[in-house]
Amino acid sequence: MNLVDVHCHLNHELFKDDLDAVLQRARQEGVKRILLSGVNPVANKEVLEFVKKDPALLKASLGIYPIDALGLQLDAVGLPHHPGPIDLDKEFTFFEKNRQKITAIGEVGMDFHWASREETYEQQAENFRRIIRFALKIQKPLVIHSRKAEEECIQILSEEIKNREIPVINHCFSGGKAVISKAAALGHYFSIPPNIVKASNFQTLVKLVDLNQLLTETDSPWLSPIKGQKNEPAFVLKSVEKIAEIKGLTREEVARQIWQNYEKVFG
Ligand SMILES: [Zn+2]
Repeated sequence: MNLVDVHCHLNHELFKDDLDAVLQRARQEGVKRILLSGVNPVANKEVLEFVKKDPALLKASLGIYPIDALGLQLDAVGLPHHPGPIDLDKEFTFFEKNRQKITAIGEVGMDFHWASREETYEQQAENFRRIIRFALKIQKPLVIHSRKAEEECIQILSEEIKNREIPVINHCFSGGKAVISKAAALGHYFSIPPNIVKASNFQTLVKLVDLNQLLTETDSPWLSPIKGQKNEPAFVLKSVEKIAEIKGLTREEVARQIWQNYEKVFG
């Protein structure tokens, strides 16, 4: 089986002692592509360095996390921190300079879990629109973070991307049925994390969305399927197995279709 993890953070400090073993377990499980996601200028540079460890397996997705874009700081994230609001134009220049090394733009989007909707909606929406327009300009897929901002993100994406000019991948999407259907009708993809084994909202999503629009991710080290153990790319197999169970297919059939989806979106 060829497996893919389209979203994770292997530059997180939790991997600093066992990264080689983590990558080895992923290879053994059949993982053929792992997209490392950046969240700010410091992390993006780190991601570009990390992928050099195994360029066939590791790919760079450079991002501007909505909270980092605002210059807000979360406590103890474990990822490199960028001080103050992000100068988007400067970061776009950096992305363009590294265009050939970038598989996707993300994670980007909006977040009303860590920032208040009342105080930050306007700024987050403006940042998000600028990032979408930039992705359209350089023709790269967008990996979306939309925590507690699902409807707002899908609305803005529908306004900015009229004719499916670039693929949109909703990472760890936690919206309700109506907004799932809306995004699916727009042709969006959804990447499913391994905690689908216990999270009923992802199970519902998989029931509603065609297999042609599903991908797998881990968001490592977060969203582990195993309590008390950090997540890692090898666990995408858990996502594949659960999708297979829900769709009534074999895991090989699911893995094959998801690999095809991967190639179509990022190939
Ligand atoms: Zn993430």
